[in-house]
Amino acid sequence: MGSPASSRTIRAAIAREAGKPLAIEAVTLGAPRSNEVLVRVVASGICHTDIVVRDQHLTSPLPAVLGHEGAGVIEAIGENVTHVAPGDHVVMTYAACGLCNTCASGHPAHCENMGPLNFGGGRMDGSSATADSHGREIHDHFFGQSSFAEYAIASERNVVKVPKYVPLKLLGPLGCGIQTGAGAVLKELNVHAGSSFVAFGAGAVGLSAVMAAWVGGATTIIAVDVNQARLDLAMELGATDTVNSRARDAVAEIKRITGQGADFTLECIGRPDVLRQAIDSLGIFGVCGIVGATREGTEVAFNVNDMILPGRRIVGIVQGDFVAQTFIPTLIELYRQGRFPFDRLVPLRRDQPGDGRQRERRHDQTNSQDGPKVRESHE
Ligand SMILES: [Zn+2]
Ligand SMILES: [Zn+2]
Repeated sequence: MGSPASSRTIRAAIAREAGKPLAIEAVTLGAPRSNEVLVRVVASGICHTDIVVRDQHLTSPLPAVLGHEGAGVIEAIGENVTHVAPGDHVVMTYAACGLCNTCASGHPAHCENMGPLNFGGGRMDGSSATADSHGREIHDHFFGQSSFAEYAIASERNVVKVPKYVPLKLLGPLGCGIQTGAGAVLKELNVHAGSSFVAFGAGAVGLSAVMAAWVGGATTIIAVDVNQARLDLAMELGATDTVNSRARDAVAEIKRITGQGADFTLECIGRPDVLRQAIDSLGIFGVCGIVGATREGTEVAFNVNDMILPGRRIVGIVQGDFVAQTFIPTLIELYRQGRFPFDRLVPLRRDQPGDGRQRERRHDQTNSQDGPKVRESHE
């Protein structure tokens, strides 16, 4: 009971060619190895990073099973797995080695093995657990999970046990998009009581940041986007002001609202022009965090003296720089207390007519690319 099952035939969404739709195929998934777990996937978010990898703007080999915001139930465990058991509800998050200098110093999101573990297309030894109906290898272990499938193989290290009172279909995005926005605010930027914070982009990452800024006690919380419905939702989730940057100059508006510029800004979109605005909106000693990934090689110009004289800083942030094993349960407890209503983000992604065009296709030209959309699978 609970020992690794033998290989099984499952359905998975395969990314075979850059820019092409995923194809649902029957594939064979091998048994979990000694330190791995088999997860029956209940739902998976779709994150911007899935799309840029499918389109090969970020390098990771195809054909592959993508997906890295999966949540589900432990079905089987390898012989050396001790901290989860079959039947446990888990959120899968990014993979980190746990042993390198940055992992050992409490920063697994900056793991020295981040590339091969999350984008390498298989295990560290190069093997994959997935094969198509012709027996050809399909890359997997994307972000240590490859959750666009009925079952995923993760490691004991990158599954986070979660309480069973929260529906699993809501939880997958906690493993990437939501912890990214919330962690950036609460840990890396350390947005504190009485401060001012601006989220550039009111998708799931930006709105998670808005909610976290409210948790952190910021007294001026500004959301910037071009989508009025998202800005309206931001006001319900803790924003004190919004700026529709299609209609107004965001930097001028932020300076007007804050007086001399914001203490903290967060670029959640991955657009060079928006990053420049996030820098220019800072006040004295202001800090601009960057979580919006761009195409490889993207550069941004800024005024050097405008950085030096006010003592401004710019910082890159991965996954909020939190340890998911502690942070995801914290976010769920904040949710239970009514202080972090991330369930509000799910209808945002699913039910906005007129916005659907942006959600899956033109991700690199909109303000809507940074967040997850939960997709129910088979429960
Ligand atoms: Zn590491
Ligand atoms: Zn992601």
